[in-house]
Amino acid sequence: MPDRHYERIHADDENLCKLCISELGGLYTDLGLSADELDLLDMPRRSFTVHFPVRMDSGKTRMFLGHRIQYNDSRGPTKGGIRFHPDLTIDHVRDLAFLMVLKCAVVNIPFGGSKGGVVVNPKELSRNELEQVTRGYIRAIANHIGPSKDIPAPDVYTDEKIMVWIMDEYERIKGKHVPAVVTGKPAELAGMKARRYSTSLGGIYVLEEAMAKIGMDRHETRVAVQGFGNVGENAARILHEAGYRVIAVSDSRGGIRDERGLDIHDVMTHKEKTGSVVGFRNSSSMTNAELLTCDCDILIPAALSDQLNGNNAHDVRAKIIVELANAPTTPEADEILFAKDTMLIPDVLANAGGVVVSYFEWIQNLNNDYWEEERVLQRLKTTMISAFNDVHTLCSEIHCRMRRAAYQLAVKRILHAERLRGNL
Ligand code: NAD
Repeated sequence: MPDRHYERIHADDENLCKLCISELGGLYTDLGLSADELDLLDMPRRSFTVHFPVRMDSGKTRMFLGHRIQYNDSRGPTKGGIRFHPDLTIDHVRDLAFLMVLKCAVVNIPFGGSKGGVVVNPKELSRNELEQVTRGYIRAIANHIGPSKDIPAPDVYTDEKIMVWIMDEYERIKGKHVPAVVTGKPAELAGMKARRYSTSLGGIYVLEEAMAKIGMDRHETRVAVQGFGNVGENAARILHEAGYRVIAVSDSRGGIRDERGLDIHDVMTHKEKTGSVVGFRNSSSMTNAELLTCDCDILIPAALSDQLNGNNAHDVRAKIIVELANAPTTPEADEILFAKDTMLIPDVLANAGGVVVSYFEWIQNLNNDYWEEERVLQRLKTTMISAFNDVHTLCSEIHCRMRRAAYQLAVKRILHAERLRGNL
């Protein structure tokens, strides 16, 4: 994969943090939080910065810098990814850790939030050096992580293979098997197959609940999906298999459209052969900008941040938007869409399926158990639908944007846990 991929996701996450902070500013004022409550939300509980040596292939030793922030654990052990990125800063890690606290609280799973990583460009390392950096970082933070303390997961530039090294290094240190120390492992080694498409499927479960609320039938529904990577492609595929008419999809090179509905399996084959969805047989071409405002019922941004903004939000025709990407909508567009009565399911809820399935991986590992895929999906569905209904109910009660309701629900759950613990 090109470096651009990682740079982009990193930048999207920065936008997400900015949006989150601006949303929270308004929310805290509306809720009239006390100074104690604000302090409690504003300060991460634990923050580690480590320097550790790695013997490089050349025989020379190089020092690496790593961070781990365990932002809030009032609702359970902290959970959050490990990122390898040359631009990683502790401030960014802190913001991302707080976002994890909110996301876990929105879907009501018993985790707090954390984030961490190493300042490194993995593209410059050999496979052996990458492994040594991973193991060195884990040795440096081993006493602070663990299945009932803080559970890492993959993030930008880290993958299943790195999760196995994390588990293995931790187990060597502890002298026993501890698969629940990390999630996102391969299915063959205490991980889960469903993790690969759980973000998309979780979003579709909430979409179906939203459709039921406004009496939309899947067979009469036209869907447009922006982005045909891990999340967008899986979303389009699952919807197509479930009988939805997916009329438009796009990737970085442009979009395609077929009013009769695209055969997504064939589009996937075409993309595999040509590297893009563009040029798919019997489809007409469209730009990414046109896709966002095309005549459809459901719009799924699954690519970049800031796609729906003040310039195009007025022209969006979809009745439901499912934010599978992080921060695809600017605050200005959020207001415009709310005024137009568009139902916008925010990222913090819509793309939380991944962390929910990680929670299931952790439970299975703790119990040395293995769940059939059907059980995993059923539980994912129950969790996502229940989270959607919690947010939707609050929205109707206080008549606000769904994003605001999701944040409010999360903040209240966190403060409630703090109160029960006697911290407030
Ligand atoms: P990906 O890199 O696999 O896919 C991104 C897709 O977007 C690619 O098809 C790419 O061609 C396309 N794209 C790039 N520029 C575009 C443009 N200008 N217009 C239209 N499409 C464009 O990434 P992904 O893992 O599918 O993630 C997509 C989004 O979902 C990101 O915002 C990510 O942060 C978010 N997300 C992903 C997960 C996950 O589990 N992968 C979880 C939560 C959130």
